[in-house]
Amino acid sequence: MAESRSVRGPGSDADVPDFWRALGLPGVIDVHVHFMPPRLMSRVWEYFDSAGPLIGADWPIHYKVPEEERITQLRALGVRAFTSLAYPHKPGMAESLNEWTAAFAARVPECVPTGTLYPEPEALSYVRRAIDAGTRIFKVHLQVGGFDPRASELDEVWGLLADAGVPVVVHAGSGPVANGFTGPGPFGDVLRRHPRLPAIIAHLGAPEFEGFFDLADRYDRVRFDTTMAFTDFFGGLGHFPAELMPRLRDFGTAGRVLLGSDFPNIPYEYAHQLEALARLDFGDDWLRTVCWDAPAKLLHLTPVLS
Ligand SMILES: [Zn+2]
Repeated sequence: MAESRSVRGPGSDADVPDFWRALGLPGVIDVHVHFMPPRLMSRVWEYFDSAGPLIGADWPIHYKVPEEERITQLRALGVRAFTSLAYPHKPGMAESLNEWTAAFAARVPECVPTGTLYPEPEALSYVRRAIDAGTRIFKVHLQVGGFDPRASELDEVWGLLADAGVPVVVHAGSGPVANGFTGPGPFGDVLRRHPRLPAIIAHLGAPEFEGFFDLADRYDRVRFDTTMAFTDFFGGLGHFPAELMPRLRDFGTAGRVLLGSDFPNIPYEYAHQLEALARLDFGDDWLRTVCWDAPAKLLHLTPVLS
């Protein structure tokens, strides 16, 4: 175990390549990036623009620029692989989102083919089709979707993902806004039925960190993404309890914490997420595992990238 201090986090986006080079990495891999059909992205941005009172803070999106420019920005940062997380807020939407993200991944080589789903009768067939077509990660947003992850239409879908070993990023925590289906309870019920489901709990499960950490203790395929955690902005999503730090460190060392950023929908520079992780002072090995090794392994990227 290296006891060395972490390399210094990047102070601005221009410093990000120096950060991963200092770690001896070829770049970083980000499991929590949003690309979606432009009209839907505009609606998401309108939501953030207007949601100040609801979220409890202004949320000025830093990367509100056209899609091609955002791809260029990620390349300049050295994000060598990323997802395109899109998610439906109503039935009948997921399948066309999956078609869009598949086409996006086909034209953007760094993008890992990403899918989504919704509790509806067709879910099992379109998720199976997406996996057969090469989708390597899914996204489920319980807050925006407003659905119960225990819905009967999803039972076989979770089983399929578990059997196929295809990970699913789940926004299951109650931050920034709770609904009846967020928190470790409902998704914990899903894991009890599907203990091999490779779930990635977004935002470290904020603000119910401890409940989700307990689930990860029980189910060894549960992982976390770092999205917005420890940033100066994260206060509104719930403070991370100091007593959980050793468990976070251990999960990270075990390859169960993955870099996530929420690019482009963040109210600060990309560099700030990396700086916030470096500030934890868990050491260079920890940062290398989180920013590269663990996501590369989970998404089967190593042969492609090296
Ligand atoms: Zn997100």
